[in-house]
Amino acid sequence: MTQTGQNIDLATPVQYLKGVGPGRAAAFNDLGVQTVADLLGYFPRDWSFVPEPVLIGDLKPGKLICAVGMVEQTDWQPYRRKPFFEAILADKTGLCRIIWFNGKYLINQLEPGKILLVYGKVDFYRRQLQFSNPKFHILHPDQPRDSDAFSGPIYPASANLPSWQIKRVVKANLDSISPLMPELFKKAFLKKNDLISRPKAYEWIHNPADEKQLAKAKRRLKYDELFLMQLGLALKRHHLRHTAPSTPLACNENIDHRIRRRFPFLLTADQDKAIEEIVADLNKSVPMNRLLQGDVGSGKTVVALYAALVAIANKQQVAIMAPTEILARQHFLSIEKYLKNSNVRRGLLIGGMPAVKRGALLHQIASGDMDIIVGTVALVQQDVDFDNLGLVIIDEQHKFGVHQRAMLRKGKSPHCLVMTATPIPRTLTMTAFGDLDVSIIEHCPPGRGEVITRHVHPKDRMAAFEFIRKQIRAGRQAYFVYPRIDSETTVEIPNGDIKAAVDEHRFLSQKVFPEYHIALLHGQMTTEQKKQIMGDFRSGKIQALVSTVVIEVGVDVPNATIMAIENAERFGLAQLHQLRGRIGRGCNRSYCFLFSQSDDPIAQDRLAIMTRSHDGFEIAEQDLRLRGPGELFSTRQHGLGDLKIANIVDDFDLLNLARRDAFEMIGSDPNLNRPENAELRKTLIEKFGTSLGLVDVG
Ligand code: ADP
Ligand code: MG
Repeated sequence: MTQTGQNIDLATPVQYLKGVGPGRAAAFNDLGVQTVADLLGYFPRDWSFVPEPVLIGDLKPGKLICAVGMVEQTDWQPYRRKPFFEAILADKTGLCRIIWFNGKYLINQLEPGKILLVYGKVDFYRRQLQFSNPKFHILHPDQPRDSDAFSGPIYPASANLPSWQIKRVVKANLDSISPLMPELFKKAFLKKNDLISRPKAYEWIHNPADEKQLAKAKRRLKYDELFLMQLGLALKRHHLRHTAPSTPLACNENIDHRIRRRFPFLLTADQDKAIEEIVADLNKSVPMNRLLQGDVGSGKTVVALYAALVAIANKQQVAIMAPTEILARQHFLSIEKYLKNSNVRRGLLIGGMPAVKRGALLHQIASGDMDIIVGTVALVQQDVDFDNLGLVIIDEQHKFGVHQRAMLRKGKSPHCLVMTATPIPRTLTMTAFGDLDVSIIEHCPPGRGEVITRHVHPKDRMAAFEFIRKQIRAGRQAYFVYPRIDSETTVEIPNGDIKAAVDEHRFLSQKVFPEYHIALLHGQMTTEQKKQIMGDFRSGKIQALVSTVVIEVGVDVPNATIMAIENAERFGLAQLHQLRGRIGRGCNRSYCFLFSQSDDPIAQDRLAIMTRSHDGFEIAEQDLRLRGPGELFSTRQHGLGDLKIANIVDDFDLLNLARRDAFEMIGSDPNLNRPENAELRKTLIEKFGTSLGLVDVG
């Protein structure tokens, strides 16, 4: 019951709780806390465990101790070698000295007469016991003189609602509200996974008696958070697979043989394994929803084309979509290379086509006279009408977006294969992309040149340029990559000295390499200009390209063996890895120079990873560790919200456990209709709405 005699449940506004009036309720609302459930879910950001105060007469040296007393006198000693502020603290059993080095700011705070709680280490100084630099808290004369001021939860607070007030409200109500949190799991399940009960977890997260209780509470709450996310992913996947069936696409030895004959090489073991997984998926009436991961040049396109040809052998159409028109064209060209003289009907659908040609193509697509259509996402956006779409292949390169996938799902259910060159760490394929199956091509086809990567400090710049000159003289080509286009048009970047491509192009072509053709390429050029320059680079007319990251996508010039990246610390590691994938494509040894003058230790560590490793997955995983998941990918990408207490890197084991349990549960009770899962069902609907396909019956 509340103070007004009303029954409290989880949906009750906080205003009806003990110690909360309208004013404080408004302050809670500003922090996003409206209801009792919100308050229980408003976790402390930290916890401290301060022991009960001891009497000054009982102080012992060496340990972390808490004491309470009255300030007897104070002194500021500015002329010492290390200036300090001194206070004498007294209780009825004795006196002790406290000093704070450089504590001038304390002069106006710690006047004699104040009641002070201090917490810190006590040591002897000239045979007297003394606190040095303790934490302290000034107590109100009426405030209980216990450790509570320091101990316990520390909440994310606002100016209107400090942590200690939140703490007081939570504490006053915790016993009556934490039992309201419903349990989600059966006792046996909790026992098996070594989890405490849910109400207990909410109680202990807000008011743990010790570190042990806190650890148990955290484990349970993290598990719940990860489990609910995984349950959402499992449901999403289940629904994708069961809303509309797809046409099973069969493969046999004959088809396999005919397809392989198209490739002028043997497929690698990794390619074969991915194909095997894809063929198994295609053979089902449940639509495939698979992610094909592999570095640039690892041979994904070949695998995707294999899948496409299986679909075509089954009289189905295939759509291949790329993020940009340049890439769509490239895909089309490489497909042409493999499909020369075949009777597979293929078309390229992009913007700016003459209307008549476009109309004819659309007609062919709609009437089933076209087998493979390559295009950009416009393929789905513009409501292109397919006669018999059996497979969609999406090349996401490094910009991995979920929205395209969703759009394809309207109406029919084609099989879906998403290719990405972004090495996505396992932690993320289990979360952000957790509704997809994953195939990985780890090793590139044989015969690639080695890439040597070096971190170049400013003093060695000229030496690096000389080295590059020798390589160009020997017939190789080079890329110079910059974070920006030019130094004027871009927004000011605080630490200055960001090399801009336009300026550097001038510098490199006029001062450093006047004897060679060096061209500028950047994203603001027209498609025509870019095509011209790329053509000249490919044919060797141009020896070096100065560019922004536009070359990241779709450039394949095996003779280019040098890449120099300026301000390398400003790029993400995954991005550097992508860039580096542009060299080492021929049989010559390649060199990647990472220019950086940053002395930030994290920047140094990150570049060191690049010089050490060529494994995209390792690089991504390390980057994730150094920078946290936020910068690489948002866990929000799956639409199931951010994690509040769990962390996919630190809590990887728990994530694994929760994922296994969640997928198992959906496997056996796909709509969560069993009575024992009723509470879970309700919680999921509250958390994610009906977007997961769960119907709210209650
Ligand atoms: P991705 O799409 O992953 O960037 P591609 O499929 O375009 O990779 O392959 C990159 C290059 O490697 C292409 O020139 C392709 O012809 C070649 N290639 C692909 N698979 C093999 C293989 N098994 N053996 C030799 N070369 C291959
Ligand atoms: Mg490719």
